[in-house]
Amino acid sequence: MRKVGILGDLHANLSALEAVLALFDLEEVDAIYCVGDIVGYGARPNEVIELLMEREVAAVAGNHDWALLGKISEESFNPYARAALEWTRAKISPEARDFLEALPLRIDTEHFCLVHGALPNPEEFEYLQSFPTALATLADFDAPIGFVGHTHVPMNFIQNPGSSELEWHFQVDWHLEKGQRAVVNVGSPGQPRDEIPTAPAVVYNLQTGRVQLLRTPYNIAAEQRLIRKANLPAILGDRLQHGI
Ligand code: ZN
Repeated sequence: MRKVGILGDLHANLSALEAVLALFDLEEVDAIYCVGDIVGYGARPNEVIELLMEREVAAVAGNHDWALLGKISEESFNPYARAALEWTRAKISPEARDFLEALPLRIDTEHFCLVHGALPNPEEFEYLQSFPTALATLADFDAPIGFVGHTHVPMNFIQNPGSSELEWHFQVDWHLEKGQRAVVNVGSPGQPRDEIPTAPAVVYNLQTGRVQLLRTPYNIAAEQRLIRKANLPAILGDRLQHGI
C-alpha cells in the first residue's frame, strides 16, 4: 500500500462523497478510509452507505452513527440534529443499518490510526481541539499518524521527536518527517464548518509522509433541494453554501 485516501464526516451528503471519490481516483489511492459520522443531517444516508460498501471503504463509527442505533444518548444533540436522526431512522435500509452496526470505534494499522473523536476513550466522542486531548490521543496509538474528524474543521497537531509539546497548524500540503508523529483532522466533506463550502479530504502517502488536504466543489444546490424535499430542517441545507 502506497497511498491512502481519508474521508471525514459525510453526513448523508452523496454529492460530496462522489466528488471526493473522484479526487481519490485521480490521486490513484490504494485504499479509502472514513472517520465516521456517515449519517445525520443530509438526505441520502442509504445511497452514501451503498457507495461506501461498493468502494470497500473501511470506516469507524461516529457519534451520529451510534446515536442513530441507540448506542448513545442524543440528549446533547441540537434540535436539528435530533430531527435529522429521527428522519434517518425512518428511512434507513436494513442493509445500511447492518453496515453501521458493524463499524468499529477505532482502526489501527502499522501505518496509521483512525478514530472519530479522540482517544483513549473513543466511545465518549470527545472533540480533538486542544493540546491535552491531542497528546492523550497520540499516547494511545503506536503508528506515526492518526486521523480524526468530528469537529468538521481540518487541522494538524505535530509532535517532534523527544518533545512532549505539540505544534499546531492548518497547512494543506506538508510532510510528516521521520520521527515526528501527528494527529490530523481531515475535515468534513458532508458539512464543512471552516467557512469553505467545498468538500475536503486527505491523501496520505505512506512512503514519503506527504499529507495533502484536497478540496473539491460539489453540487450543493442538489443536496439542498433534497434536504428541503425530505422536510428536513432547511438550515441543514442552507449552511452548506456557507461552509458553517
Ligand atoms: Zn460530524
